[in-house]
Amino acid sequence: MTAITRRTLAGVLGAAAGAAVFDTRLGRGLALAAKRGMPDDTIILSSNENPYGPSEKALEAAGRLGGVANRYPDALEDEARAAIAKHHGVTADRIALGCGSSEILQMADLAFTSPQRPAVVAEPTFEAVLIYARAIQAPGIKVPLTADFRHDLPKMAAACDAKTGLVYVCNPNNPTGTIVTGEELSSFVAKVPSSTTILVDEAYHHFVEDSRYRTACDLIDRHPNVVVARTFSKIYGMAGLRLGYAVGSAARIEQMARFASFSNANAAVLSAAIASLSEPDLVPKQRKALNDARRWLVAEMARQGRRTIPSETNFVMIDMGGDVLPVIKAFRGRKILVGRKFPSLPNWLRVTIGKPEEVQAFAAALRTIVPAKAA
Ligand code: PLP
Repeated sequence: MTAITRRTLAGVLGAAAGAAVFDTRLGRGLALAAKRGMPDDTIILSSNENPYGPSEKALEAAGRLGGVANRYPDALEDEARAAIAKHHGVTADRIALGCGSSEILQMADLAFTSPQRPAVVAEPTFEAVLIYARAIQAPGIKVPLTADFRHDLPKMAAACDAKTGLVYVCNPNNPTGTIVTGEELSSFVAKVPSSTTILVDEAYHHFVEDSRYRTACDLIDRHPNVVVARTFSKIYGMAGLRLGYAVGSAARIEQMARFASFSNANAAVLSAAIASLSEPDLVPKQRKALNDARRWLVAEMARQGRRTIPSETNFVMIDMGGDVLPVIKAFRGRKILVGRKFPSLPNWLRVTIGKPEEVQAFAAALRTIVPAKAA
């Protein structure tokens, strides 16, 4: 079986992408890897990454590894777990680290699903939970989104019974960018059997501005079957460094941590994460830059007469009025990488928010690729 990676998930990447990783001139090789084997002036708006990258302090911390890189990072792991626990106001035994939050999702599948214990997910949503469940022959039950592209929580609760191992709520949801409200989430959690783990993926938590949204972290004390996944890949700009974590009850975290690989968080990212958490201005600054660019793009799409799905994230779905595959290919021809096709939303193009000039270049190219309906 072919291993499923982000690269095969993306589906549209060329054969040259693999070769780039093996370039022996390190700087060039890294630049090529970052550009997916495309020319240096390629604009990447495909994987919901943060164009600004880690803060300077985080990069400095990651670079100060003399005398550290040759040692297993156990002490740094403890320090990072303690810093994350403090950030959330919980004890360190309620935090599990992962190689990105992808590993957290994998650990949750391994701990809570099995061939007899299905996973319930929305359709469409971030695919990792279903992919990892499939690998261990755990059934996946898909519940379509509502007409306004949000999780259908009443139907998802109804799909859970005593046998259900895991129900996955991606809030905000990838690829639609939509949220469920705090109230909706509370009444959902009350309906799901306590034997089912409720995994709430808050990868895009920091972008949300809708006041009806609440983090599911607040639900864990009353509902110890709730586990929250977070990542340093999005607002903190560290997708290439790899660090995610879970917040949960000590019992659920202990069950998941059994499935983590040893030293799954490297010394560089642990140092960078600790530095980032001590920078109070970092999150608001990144949020403002990216949300402002998203607001501009959404307004521009409206000027062009196009429909968008209201997004609370660093990406937005735009209606192309027809199959997105040729559109994705046409953008690639113009050295702009955009999101992949989501089969249950075949006409919608997912675009990651980049720097203002990148988003403007996307909007200008779109006018030519799919002529606008209104000026
Ligand atoms: N969860 C969601 C909703 C995502 O969109 C992504 C990445 O795009 C991830 C998790 C995984 O991110 P990472 O493994 O980089 O933390």
